[in-house]
Amino acid sequence: MRCLKKQERKEGLWLDTAEHPQIKPHEILINVKRAAICGTDVHIYNWDEWSEKTVPTPMITGHEYSGVIAEVGSEVEGFKVGDRVTGEGHLVCGHCRNCRGGRQHLCRNTFGIGVNRPGAFADYFALPASNAFKLPDAITDETAAIMDPLGNAVHCALSFDLVGEDVLITGAGPIGIMAAAVCRHVGARHVVVTDVNDYRLGLAKQCGATVALNVAAPNSDELLHATMKNLGMTEGFDVGLEMSGHQSGLRDMLNSMNSGGRIAILGIPSTPFPIELDKIVFKGLTVKGIYGREMYETWYKMANMLVAGLQERIAPVITHRLPFENFEEGFQAMRKGEAVKVVLEL
Ligand code: NAD
Ligand code: ZN
Repeated sequence: MRCLKKQERKEGLWLDTAEHPQIKPHEILINVKRAAICGTDVHIYNWDEWSEKTVPTPMITGHEYSGVIAEVGSEVEGFKVGDRVTGEGHLVCGHCRNCRGGRQHLCRNTFGIGVNRPGAFADYFALPASNAFKLPDAITDETAAIMDPLGNAVHCALSFDLVGEDVLITGAGPIGIMAAAVCRHVGARHVVVTDVNDYRLGLAKQCGATVALNVAAPNSDELLHATMKNLGMTEGFDVGLEMSGHQSGLRDMLNSMNSGGRIAILGIPSTPFPIELDKIVFKGLTVKGIYGREMYETWYKMANMLVAGLQERIAPVITHRLPFENFEEGFQAMRKGEAVKVVLEL
């Protein structure tokens, strides 16, 4: 079968062939139809410090996908050959306190497909059946291939009550853009999205942002406050979703939150930075870190929202569709910031 591999411990990915995978009794074999490129895959392509520390080689990469079940292990129940599926990319231990308490997204022994074990940039890959998610007919193969990052957005956005609330999203990457769509879908009032990239801000607007604001200028504070005034917001944002991983994104947020506001932080800083703790204290803010997706509450809510109109709202986020062999074009577009979601067709 064809696969995309981290072959050598240096920049790049290699199109190669591999043996047809053998499944264990609790696993299913997925015939991948669509696979999407994640920021994590770009890190692995670039072979940054994190990848060097984390990824054993050779490794078939990729963890955003959809496909059809080609084989089921002897102990698997609830799935059959031919089912359309996507799945959770975090594999959990099942025996730590959080796993046993039903909080698998907080498992301390998490493994990632396409990072620590062979992933989805391949014609076939093996997945524990417990991680698979059966797709409703109304969800297309390409939408299903981005349910992993959409799940990050959903997990983050549904952390707090959004109905009638004013929301600030810092960072219009794929996850921030999709989070704007989710906030509108569940009934937020104003959804303001910030970024430093006009192309991405344009897509955030298409996906439902009330205002998409470029904060590249040093007076981002003034711009945000003027925006709030124009929208008739006198007190500040009720909910903040930090999706940039940048110090200035979080700083803008802390400056424009209302007292008692609630913040969910998804963005991962590439280098540590100081935080104005006094703002969190004096404003009485609630701050929640978000990792992955809730297993499997996020998946159920996400699927049902997609069927109920969210699929159309997030459609503009898929900016590139390419044959699997043209992966290099997709990676280069991602590296140059000219793409948001790239879907590879197998
Ligand atoms: P991304 O890197 O594509 O998006 C980040 C965006 O922030 C970019 O568009 C960038 O231009 C923008 N940005 C830069 N400086 C900014 C500023 N000062 N203000 C506002 N925006 C600014 O990433 P993504 O794939 O959308 O993911 C969002 C973040 O979440 C990243 O930091 C990523 O590492 C992280 N992430 C976390 C999890 C998790 O489970 N916690 C999962 C996936 C991704
Ligand atoms: Zn665990």
